[in-house]
Amino acid sequence: MIAAANVDVLRPRHLKDALMMLRVAADEGRPLVPMAGGTDLFVTLNAGQKPAARYLDLWRLDKLRSVAADGRRGLVFGGLATFTDCIESKAVQKRLPILVDAARQVGGVQIQNRGTLAGNIENGSPAADGVPVLMAADATIVLRSLDDERRVPLASYYTGYRKTVRRADELIVAIEIDVPDGPQWFHKVGTRAAQAISKVVMAAIGHRVALGSVAPVIVRAHKLEAYVAAGGRDLAEAKRLAGADVSPIDDVRSTAEYRRRVVENLVAAWLPSLDGGGAARPAKRAAGLDKPPASR
Ligand SMILES: Cc1cc2nc3c(=O)[nH]c(=O)nc-3n(C[C@H](O)[C@H](O)[C@H](O)COP(=O)(O)OP(=O)(O)OC[C@H]3O[C@@H](n4cnc5c(N)ncnc54)[C@H](O)[C@@H]3O)c2cc1C
Repeated sequence: MIAAANVDVLRPRHLKDALMMLRVAADEGRPLVPMAGGTDLFVTLNAGQKPAARYLDLWRLDKLRSVAADGRRGLVFGGLATFTDCIESKAVQKRLPILVDAARQVGGVQIQNRGTLAGNIENGSPAADGVPVLMAADATIVLRSLDDERRVPLASYYTGYRKTVRRADELIVAIEIDVPDGPQWFHKVGTRAAQAISKVVMAAIGHRVALGSVAPVIVRAHKLEAYVAAGGRDLAEAKRLAGADVSPIDDVRSTAEYRRRVVENLVAAWLPSLDGGGAARPAKRAAGLDKPPASR
């Protein structure tokens, strides 16, 4: 249960005020926790795992709620852009349709209306569905503090399980993408087709491949990428390399062994699409959905 009396929430209307509040709180050694849609934070609050007593509610910072095309291939998402904003954006539909696919599979409509891309990133869950797409797209995170702005490639944003490079006085104010060339591919494997957290999630753009729920953080499959970028198309070798790129664990949602097998099956479904063939979405059987892990 949330003990509201113990929760302080500051609600700035302007970004500058929000950054000032973060700075003062950080200097006092009592950092504020930014809150966007609250769809991750409220789960922890409700479970009694109160991560902090002081929150900075970003929801009124309307200027951050934007999705814009930039140049011929670019997309810029504001720090409050929601999954629904991504689904409804013509520019995203055209330039990065796999983000629309991923966004449609995040929770239900209510979660998509509140949940933000920035929250998905900063929450640091290895099962986040938006992050693999952004990672395959070589996204850059724009972090702003009161007197500074810096850009960090998403590929180096995580420093460990649920740990990021963001300082306590910084906010994610934008996510920038210059969409790479190549076929786009996304598939999420969960317990069921809707309202499920990923057991394995894979996104690919050209030879760039990102995988979720298979390591402490969402990872790029560098060995597999190097192989296919050099023209390698042997399925057995591609599966072997993908296996070497991941380090899944047993947890409440799946077993490591099952996850490894699903990664291989997803690679098998994806590989033909690189050269313009194959199904855009693997069949249930190919993804391994027909064979649940022994523990479930
Ligand atoms: C029922 C349910 C189903 C869900 N299903 C899915 C699913 O299928 N797939 C999936 O990926 N996720 C799912 N989620 C998780 C969640 O909805 C997403 O991770 C969402 O993107 C979180 O965004 P938010 O804006 O609600 O984040 P919040 O809960 O507000 O914040 C999450 C974290 O990000 C930080 N943060 C937020 N915005 C900023 C910012 N601008 N700058 C710096 N830090 C920031 C917060 O401090 C916090 O650490 C589900 C959640 C629920 C409750």
